[in-house]
Amino acid sequence: MKISIPKEAITQIMTDYNCSEEEAAKAYLDADDSAKEAFNSILAERFGARKQTPESLAPKIYTPKEIKSHLDKYVIGQEEYKKRLTIAAAYHFAVIKHLSEHPDDLTVKRFRKKNTITAGPSGSGKTYSVEVLGDLLQVPTLIIDATDYTEAGYVGKTADDMIRELIDLAPGYNREEQARFITTYGGLICIDEIDKKAKDGASVGHDISREGFQRSVLKLIERKSVSINNPYSAASQIQEAIDRQKGKKAAKQESMISTENILFILGGSFERHGDNLESIVKKRLQHKGRVHENGSIEIKGFAKDDKKSDKGKLQSYYKEAEADDFIEFGLLPELIGRSPIRTFVNLLSKNDLIRIMQETEDSILNQYELEFKLFNIDLEFTPEAVEYIAEKAENKKTGARALVSVWENILTDFQFELPGTNFSKLEVTRKLCERPKDELLKMLERSPFADFVENFKKEYGVELILDEDVQSYIEQSAHQNNVQISETLKKLFFGASALNYMGIREPYKVTREMVQDEKYFDKLFARWYEDQKKKIDQK
Ligand code: ADP
Repeated sequence: MKISIPKEAITQIMTDYNCSEEEAAKAYLDADDSAKEAFNSILAERFGARKQTPESLAPKIYTPKEIKSHLDKYVIGQEEYKKRLTIAAAYHFAVIKHLSEHPDDLTVKRFRKKNTITAGPSGSGKTYSVEVLGDLLQVPTLIIDATDYTEAGYVGKTADDMIRELIDLAPGYNREEQARFITTYGGLICIDEIDKKAKDGASVGHDISREGFQRSVLKLIERKSVSINNPYSAASQIQEAIDRQKGKKAAKQESMISTENILFILGGSFERHGDNLESIVKKRLQHKGRVHENGSIEIKGFAKDDKKSDKGKLQSYYKEAEADDFIEFGLLPELIGRSPIRTFVNLLSKNDLIRIMQETEDSILNQYELEFKLFNIDLEFTPEAVEYIAEKAENKKTGARALVSVWENILTDFQFELPGTNFSKLEVTRKLCERPKDELLKMLERSPFADFVENFKKEYGVELILDEDVQSYIEQSAHQNNVQISETLKKLFFGASALNYMGIREPYKVTREMVQDEKYFDKLFARWYEDQKKKIDQK
């Protein structure tokens, strides 16, 4: 590579620094290199990493089996759903690729999209599967919550914004290029909680706006052109004003994108106060069987009422849901018509939750092991501990979503305290999960009382004095109620923050009667407050 150095620059350096021509040339080249580096790093700092050229990112086409086995690594159970999703995506993106290579192939020109609608309990893998799918396919994938969107005209995001958000996720140097990426290679939009936009007849106003949202989603599903820039954004409006000033009337030729190559996946729990999809399905199934084999007719309303069936039993009705059931629930017939693939997910069992914790590629237990290892601590979970957590999470009725919060509550203090100490191993037992704070303090050879007093002082500036009598009372109370000492302390001294507001500065001696009355500090504060008021009134 030939590098040219301007003669004047060299002469200038020679005079300024009193150096030889060779030294000046070398210094020039070094400075030039550093300047280029600084230039790029400022750009990178301002705009983040440079996007790769879209062509090099053309998504790969996978067979259904390849997709399914990828989903299996991350999503436990939900076989039917994973299979339906796999087929919808595999064929969708294969058709798009075929069309981009053979644009005149009329046989597939107007292919019927495999838009999918899924019903099933929350936290059981509906949107997570789409996330994993998008990661594998490397196509722009947007996952949204229908409740964040409104019908156009109301305050909030509109359905068209979904398309613009999807464009944001595509590779490219500018919006036109990003939009072109989606037009060429397709994209995925998963709309969760679509059931919250179903009409329920409870309020006319709500129903109109919900139906409005459904209609605007329907338009997107039925091939619509959407402006790639938000016409209401400040930037667009300023540009428009400038164009108008310049007399550029025709300049507002907006760039548009067609929604043709976007696959839509709708999902929801279809549960609401009063009725749910399953009870609708159940009613229909019962209704169908109303004519008995012997010819007798069961009259509706007189059929044996089966209200006692518990929720666990009802779950199985999700898989029987048909188009009419979704329509009866309150979705638009046209929207259901445009979502020909209907599928379901099951309620996760305790066993599923255990498998989710242990067997998935991104399992939460692996993640904690990795995190502790970063600070040289080997973490081990006993099977009883894992089972205990699965039970706890199952009781929260939020599917696998509860797992993270349950573990966080247990391990947070360990993650704070252990790094930097001599501990190189932590065995997570059931006992530790039941009483994390007490177990931690035991490990650290710290008394839960001293720890509480220290933290209370840090938080409220008041030093509590808990003598042996008080401590033994609290110990007994914790034991009787089968809760941790630290939890009991927290509960008993909940109102004691009032001491701070009451201006206490000296060490504060706690007596037995104070801790025997859970409302002691509340009452103390109320009395003090009244006194203060009186004093002010007297002045
Ligand atoms: P929803 O069914 O309400 O869309 P998600 O798919 O968002 O629920 O699930 C919430 C979280 O729970 C996911 O991020 C994932 O970590 C976990 N999860 C849920 N179901 C499964 C499953 N079947 N297998 C593995 N992880 C799951």
